Amino acid sequence: MTRRTLLRALTATTLSAGLAATMLPTNAMEATAGSSRSGDSLFPSMGNGGYDVTHYDIDLSYRPRNERIVATTAVHAVAKQDLTSFNLELRGLVITRVAVDGVPAEHVRDRAEATVSLPEALPAGEAFTVVVEYAGRPRALSGGGLGGEGWIATPDGATVLSEPNGAMTWFPVNNTPRDKATYDISVDVPNRLKAASNGLLIGRDRGPRRTTWHWRETRPMAAYLATVSIGRYRMFRDTTASGVPLISFVDVKAGRAKRERRNLPKVMRFLEKRFGRYPFASSGMIIDNIDVGYALETQGRPVYPHDAPAWLMVHELAHQWFGNSVTPRDWSDIWLNEGFASYAEWLWQAKVSGRKRHVEQEMFDFFYEVYGPKNHLWRVTPGDPGVPRRLFHQAIYLRGAMTLHALRMEVGGRDFFRILRAWARRNEHGSGTTPQFKRLAEELSGEQLDRLFRVWLYTPRKPRGY
Ligand SMILES: [Zn+2]
Repeated sequence: MTRRTLLRALTATTLSAGLAATMLPTNAMEATAGSSRSGDSLFPSMGNGGYDVTHYDIDLSYRPRNERIVATTAVHAVAKQDLTSFNLELRGLVITRVAVDGVPAEHVRDRAEATVSLPEALPAGEAFTVVVEYAGRPRALSGGGLGGEGWIATPDGATVLSEPNGAMTWFPVNNTPRDKATYDISVDVPNRLKAASNGLLIGRDRGPRRTTWHWRETRPMAAYLATVSIGRYRMFRDTTASGVPLISFVDVKAGRAKRERRNLPKVMRFLEKRFGRYPFASSGMIIDNIDVGYALETQGRPVYPHDAPAWLMVHELAHQWFGNSVTPRDWSDIWLNEGFASYAEWLWQAKVSGRKRHVEQEMFDFFYEVYGPKNHLWRVTPGDPGVPRRLFHQAIYLRGAMTLHALRMEVGGRDFFRILRAWARRNEHGSGTTPQFKRLAEELSGEQLDRLFRVWLYTPRKPRGY
């Protein structure tokens, strides 16, 4: 995610879970209810235990006149314990039917939690499918003043931006980044509208009045990165030099986005050179006429409000490696997303300035000097933000990027880029934690990095000696 105003101001000045069920031998354990919590340290009530989702199949029809949806989502999952019931998150919307493996199932709802009772207890390791039919007018969560989170109505349709918890506003979900899954997303809209989503466009079934757009994401995706964007769009296709198909959507009110379409393959190439092979089957962008204060790195195809300057595209596409492919195991590891994507902006700045060797150092020195010891930047610890409202604090971004530059100074540029590439490759399509990143950096550099990580990520004071 990028708060546009904040980062624009900055660039202008410079150039398993504790609560998951313990696995006991199945014969020693009575079947029990899956936990209604995932164990996340910032959002403990989000996400659930007792099962692991492998695939979501979301089939959704959108009615522009009343902004309602009628939807069926099949959640394919595997039981991780002997299970009598389990929870999904779904906020608002009316559930009309639930079935597990084809058998109707009872459910009760309590705010965002839907608890589904299994018609028959499931043994650990068993795969099952729960189908949820539901309908209504999805409503965004109020997103800390940035303009909403989840399913957001726009002048010509709707766009989904779900970081961190908005996924539950439009489909029943295990709402935690530690349970990634693949997706099929089908969206049925009137013919005058288009429907963008993640992954590859598998097909378009065009009827006399309505068209169903069928998208498929074959690589694991965290729920907060799933998107649908419905509106009056122009669609553009292209391919990168490395052969990645690009499918982009530009709101008719945003023009033809010539600059953005020219920049996209260049930015992809730039990032592939630094971070290694692009981790997904397709890329692109969604430029929407939407009044939110941020862009989001929705998987493969980020969403940008109104336009996408190159530095912003660099940030959101860097997330495809750092955040989307390697996803934080816990929300408190958010700097592994934002520090890395912010540092990618510094690298881009160095490239476009033509003075490769010194620009990142100049940026580091500038921020180090300009933010005195009393500044809030030093009071928030990027490695442990502590409370949800600090999830997108400036320290996560800027101090996070400075942490990476401090690491680069410590281990040297060669080892530094080896570490970034190895982090992306070894954890591809998985999850990561800050201690794992530190261990990798120590392994590849041969250096002991306790102090560096402690002062930059975990100490509420300005690091000394830089
Ligand atoms: Zn970001």
